[in-house]
Amino acid sequence: MQTATLPEISVVIPALNEVENLDTLFASLTRTLDSLERPYEIIVVDDGSTDGTFEKVVEHSKHNPRIRGAKLRRNYGKSSALASGFDLAIGSIVLTLDADNQDDPTEIPRFLEKLEQGYDLVSGWKRNRQDPGTRVHASHLFNGVIRMLTGIRLHDFNCGFKACRAEVVKTVPLYGEWHRFIPVLAADLGFRVTEVEVHHQPRTHGKSRYGLERYFRGFADCLSLMVLSRYAERPGHLFMGIGFSLFLLGLVLVGLMLLFQASSKGWFFFGLFSVMSLQFILIGMIAELLVSRIGLRRHRNAIRETVGFPKDSEPNDLG
Ligand code: UDP
Ligand code: MG
Repeated sequence: MQTATLPEISVVIPALNEVENLDTLFASLTRTLDSLERPYEIIVVDDGSTDGTFEKVVEHSKHNPRIRGAKLRRNYGKSSALASGFDLAIGSIVLTLDADNQDDPTEIPRFLEKLEQGYDLVSGWKRNRQDPGTRVHASHLFNGVIRMLTGIRLHDFNCGFKACRAEVVKTVPLYGEWHRFIPVLAADLGFRVTEVEVHHQPRTHGKSRYGLERYFRGFADCLSLMVLSRYAERPGHLFMGIGFSLFLLGLVLVGLMLLFQASSKGWFFFGLFSVMSLQFILIGMIAELLVSRIGLRRHRNAIRETVGFPKDSEPNDLG
């Protein structure tokens, strides 16, 4: 009897101070999920909220056993919140959604259709993004550059609305702010990735938790991603390759300085700055290679408490 009620669909929702949005979210989400007539669970991961978000989830889980919650010890960031939720999810299909009601749950069936067509991951595309103008432009630029750098033809890498087979989220490494690159990471691992257009709604309560700095971080992460996917097992080719090129560059600069003695100052600074900037980039890459080995497990022990999971009511059954 128990296996019949095991969730087939797990909805994972990261939430940082979203208490005002949860009533609407649960109402609209359960309406759509109930209509699918497939067993499901809704897992809200409270990412260190201070506004009573977790208490709200506890309240809802008392009335609806499909609603579950996990509370992280502090604010770990959206990627870690998602990763904690993925660890807890037991459905063969995993959906992710933001907690702020900007995503519309009635679109879930369209995501599921794509999965049935044989895709492993379906990412939302907020074609008409309902956010302030500067963010919309920054986002277009960001998406264009990421498309170019990764070769993955998606329009919207920053959409929290996604559906995938459980293998994807159980395989893709997630830490830092890498949630933006789930489709890229998945495609790199050979999963079939596609997108569906979704409606986007303005935030009704609270402000975005991110500013424009996210795009700089996003570009830095994209560079790291390219290094990791291509050179994780042969970093020497990358570093030594750059080293040899730098040596050549140095030779050329010295040659130029000898040739144009009078204006050598400009060249000197040009050489100095470009060498320095390369050093920073390289240090960043080395750091990423190290973090990729040790950072993966960091979120694993981030959960302080959970509510609504079978083990919460029967603590001795799962030993
Ligand atoms: N979020 C989170 N931890 C964070 C920042 C954000 O769990 O450190 C959640 C947030 O509560 C929301 C989702 O991630 O459910 C997306 O955040 P937000 O709406 O601020 O981002 P935007 O829509 O501007 O991309
Ligand atoms: Mg939002």
